[in-house]
Amino acid sequence: MKIEIIPCLQDNYSYLIIDENNKNACVVDPSEAKPIINFLEKHNIKLNYILNTHHHFDHVGGNSELKKKYNAKVIGYVGDSKRIPDIDIMVKDEEIWIENNFEAKIIHIPGHTLGHICYYFYKENNLFTGDTLFSLGCGRIFEGTYEQMFSSLEKIKKLPGKTKIYCGHEYTLQNSKFCITYDKDNQSLIKKIKDIKEKSKKKIPTIPSTINDELKNNIFLRSDSKEIKTNLGINNSTSLTTFSKLRDLKDNF
Ligand code: ZN
Ligand code: FE
Repeated sequence: MKIEIIPCLQDNYSYLIIDENNKNACVVDPSEAKPIINFLEKHNIKLNYILNTHHHFDHVGGNSELKKKYNAKVIGYVGDSKRIPDIDIMVKDEEIWIENNFEAKIIHIPGHTLGHICYYFYKENNLFTGDTLFSLGCGRIFEGTYEQMFSSLEKIKKLPGKTKIYCGHEYTLQNSKFCITYDKDNQSLIKKIKDIKEKSKKKIPTIPSTINDELKNNIFLRSDSKEIKTNLGINNSTSLTTFSKLRDLKDNF
């Protein structure tokens, strides 16, 4: 399987998961149809499945047009069947979704929205995290609670370290400015920021990241760190309280 990053709209990423032997593909979160169609036509690939992580417009905007053009099937979370446009196949937490050579585990990760899921292609170690886990950040909590977002991120943290993270937006450079403000002595983060700046200058995506990389550098996955608690002036607080404080600070950053 080959992953192709397709930039959409302002700062969204859609992803094509391409089975190169059969020239079939899935698309994850098509914000818009046009850039997806352009790539598929150019490379003579057929689109079979549309995988949505959540119902926000910048993740489902291309559903209808792509479904019509390729007779593709739309997959989304069962609890969001009324909000995912043109849904065909409803999936639930912990379900293994298999079609053709595509095989992914569905993980329900509420917080950004109540019906948010990620797609874990465990055979290839690829994880599509939508707007829940970003590189060096996490999504805003629109519908869920702090507890829900926190435990959704805990689920992701437990996946193998080499798992590659493909998220919904190119926010990494902006996110890094927040991380370094409250985690200023993190040498690994300082190194990563150098790399991010180089990529941004050349307009190269900073995606994919990995679980290992995020565990070391993403402040929202480091809410058990003593240094970060000290930097926030909340030494004895729980990880959930630290996480909630960070999320509030980031909302106004
Ligand atoms: Zn969203
Ligand atoms: Fe989004």
